[in-house]
Amino acid sequence: MNDVLKKSVPEGAAAESATVGESAAGAILTIDLGAIRENYRRLKARLGGARCAGVVKADGYGLGAGQVAAALAKEGCDIFFVALLSEGALLRKALGWRPAIYVLNGIAPGAEGEAEAAGLTAVINSVEQLAAWHAAARRAGRKLPAAIQVDSGMSRLGMAAAEVEAVAGDLQAFDGIDVTLVMSHLACADEPAYPANEQQRLEFERLRKMLPKAPASLANSSGIFLGPRFHYDLARPGAALYGINPTPAEPNPMLPVVRLEARIIQTRNLHSGTGVGYGHAFHVTEPMAAATISLGYGDGWHRRAAAAAFLDGVRLPFLGRVSMDSIILDISALPPGRLKAGDLVQLIGPSQTVDQAAGHAGTIGYEILTSLGHRFHRRYVNR
Ligand SMILES: *Cc1c(COP(=O)(O)O)cnc(C)c1O
Repeated sequence: MNDVLKKSVPEGAAAESATVGESAAGAILTIDLGAIRENYRRLKARLGGARCAGVVKADGYGLGAGQVAAALAKEGCDIFFVALLSEGALLRKALGWRPAIYVLNGIAPGAEGEAEAAGLTAVINSVEQLAAWHAAARRAGRKLPAAIQVDSGMSRLGMAAAEVEAVAGDLQAFDGIDVTLVMSHLACADEPAYPANEQQRLEFERLRKMLPKAPASLANSSGIFLGPRFHYDLARPGAALYGINPTPAEPNPMLPVVRLEARIIQTRNLHSGTGVGYGHAFHVTEPMAAATISLGYGDGWHRRAAAAAFLDGVRLPFLGRVSMDSIILDISALPPGRLKAGDLVQLIGPSQTVDQAAGHAGTIGYEILTSLGHRFHRRYVNR
């Protein structure tokens, strides 16, 4: 087979898309599954006796839910969270029947049968979802697993206090339902000084006592770092597994996971007075060297991100606007001839972390990762 047509084979799952070989790709996204596993071990070590799930919603924060989950499974992780039924069904196919897969957004009315068939655990966010899951269990003729999510103060998902109180004494409401978890989600976990965290924890305590006795779960990535009181029986980290800093005010305790490199299409010398890119948003005022890279907003790189690429630690600022498929770089800081067509420069990596790239785009690392498009050549490694 022609080298250009060879695919790099991800760990644990078949490649999701047929791509051309690395040498032909416009940009390469390298995902270090070994780093994800090490991050899982680091979080687990912080948790003492509590268990640690893996949150792999939004296709594993953009990095490939099947590959990420298979890597976590090797660390003994057997509880996963996705947001949607469709994500859960895909993950079930990738992982087989053993692990528990929770659907955070709950099951849309009428889709209970599909969730049951895929062996998914519903996260029950309302009295209506509870009744629908109860009915689904009756139809299936067996107990169905569920997490009960309570709203402890984020006002996003979960049963409100009044709903919890309403079903508290009603044992029949839970008939046919195997409550495997009572959970809630923190709104401000990355701000350890916020009193909202402890308020939510106390409200969680109050509400869960009214529900069927089950293991409890409150902490996301940042919640793990709020201390043991927040750990309960199961933590649900996502971001930290992927190398996003769960303690934004302090150095990142996690290993970086992602590297993004883009290929130089061509280089040119620019003369004073030249306009650069769409709208001539940049004007050359002194002679400079430029390079055009094969990556743009069509790949999920924010159009408004005033950012830079890097080579050998040297910063190569963007010139003018980000195009759909390309970005123009100022490479004047490099020795002449250092960069040529086909070379790679770094967009995310040691010189610019996911969190730093997010800062330039006025967003958070979560959005950077989940935006990274599906046009990149994806290389899964185990370092
Ligand atoms: C996304 C999500 C998580 C994971 O949060 P991170 O901040 O990425 O660790 C945990 N629990 C719920 C309910 C979520 O929606």
